[in-house]
Amino acid sequence: MTTKTKSIQNFINGNFQNPKSGEWIDNYDPSCGEVYGKIPNSSTVDVEEAVMASAKAFPVWSNTTVDERSKILLKIADGIEAKLQFLAEAESKDNGKPVSLATAVDIPRAASNFRFFGHAITQFASEAHESVGHQTVNFTLKKPLGIVGCISPWNLPLYLFTWKIAPALAAGNCVVAKPSEVTPMTAFLLGEICNEAGLPPGVLNIVHGLGHTTGQAIVQHPQIKAISFTGGTATGEHIARTAAPMFKKLSLELGGKNPNLIFADCDYEKMLDTTVRSSFANQGQICLCGSRIFVEASIYEKFKTDFVARVKALKVGHPSEKESNLGALVSKPHLEKVLSYIEDAHHQNAKILSGGNRVIVPGYEKGYYLEPSVIEVKTNQCKLNQEEIFGPVVTIMPFKTDEEALAMANDVRYGLSATLWTNNLNRTMRFSNELQTGIVWVNTWMMRDLRTPFGGMKDSGVGREGGFEALRFFTEPKNVCIQYS
Ligand code: NAD
Repeated sequence: MTTKTKSIQNFINGNFQNPKSGEWIDNYDPSCGEVYGKIPNSSTVDVEEAVMASAKAFPVWSNTTVDERSKILLKIADGIEAKLQFLAEAESKDNGKPVSLATAVDIPRAASNFRFFGHAITQFASEAHESVGHQTVNFTLKKPLGIVGCISPWNLPLYLFTWKIAPALAAGNCVVAKPSEVTPMTAFLLGEICNEAGLPPGVLNIVHGLGHTTGQAIVQHPQIKAISFTGGTATGEHIARTAAPMFKKLSLELGGKNPNLIFADCDYEKMLDTTVRSSFANQGQICLCGSRIFVEASIYEKFKTDFVARVKALKVGHPSEKESNLGALVSKPHLEKVLSYIEDAHHQNAKILSGGNRVIVPGYEKGYYLEPSVIEVKTNQCKLNQEEIFGPVVTIMPFKTDEEALAMANDVRYGLSATLWTNNLNRTMRFSNELQTGIVWVNTWMMRDLRTPFGGMKDSGVGREGGFEALRFFTEPKNVCIQYS
């Protein structure tokens, strides 16, 4: 199999197969704007077949020893690592991200997800409670849920796909999964790696297709007991509406509009380096990017000059070129959406300090390239600060007091993450307590320890992934109370 493969297939019951309808969707290479493959436009019939395969596999998989499950997950991790370069190139072609980024971050992290949960399941213990005086002891069984649905977005394709699948499988569930139709390639390639690692047929089924058809069929299938979803807030709302009356367990990781709060007492050079990354890594298409930058007034002008100079030096280019700091945006509609925010900036009394234009890369003129853009805003209440753009666009504005900074950071519907740059311990503790976000980074960004709870507050989601939180989500705790005499 090569990354030039034209058509990808569904992975059901350990086999690769075409969609039953015979319908296909175009798959674009964002670096040149051309169709380079076809993906199945799966229907309810394909999802049904995947559910049947899972149902058949579940009794055996859920009774497989923890050691055996762990061993298979670790082998999948090895299989991903063995194909690191191949997978990184495939991810880059599908998504437009620099190969260097996929090689350093996306694919190693996908392997780590399997390795981490392969180990974590061996340590997933249950509590026992002795009720002294009642001669009873309670303990908790943690049963796999059965068949679960995992649905992921396009920005970190294999990284987020495996972040759900690995804990679901580790906990003894069978999975029906759907990657984004915009970036399906590495999920397709994962099927072969799972077969090579000895994952039994039907334990993981990967069905490709559109959200409102294939995804919807997964969410509303009565035999699928839980949905782990990462994607946009509007989609999350729709999924919650479908799944809630069926009493499905739901984990929703949704949009963000994260504040990056910079105080004058910070370690300036480290802050500057990291802020360039936290603004534009992956073309700004990471749910954790700090898209609203608030800077203490006393260093605002210096920051503005230095930051803009650093951003202007970033190179936008073909994802395969080593020097490219930014590759292409994921799709034409997404590029147009991001551009529409930039074009609207002047209606909002905002000033584009850097970027704002499409980039034409010679030889790839139809690619979806955009300059990293810095926009100075006058108020946190503008559209640029309130809506998720999810591209290489950040806003900057000054603040005078801690109270003002905190109020602006929290004055948004989202609550995924925040970054704080300060060396003041009291401020660190106060902000850590009062920021309405699921994650607070202090003097760093996107340092991930996979044991920590990951997720957002407010419209950024419900529930937490990561560590034992994910294993708890994918299991049903059952209390057993025994009285003895
Ligand atoms: P999206 O919501 O459009 O799609 C995500 C996935 O859901 C895709 O696989 C899609 O096919 C599927 N889907 C769409 N409609 C569906 C439906 N009705 N039923 C079931 N599935 C459906 O999101 P996207 O554009 O792929 O990703 C970008 C969004 O993801 C951004 O908002 C970003 O913030 C968010 N995101 C959040 C996190 C997080 O951890 N909180 C991480 C990455 C991305």
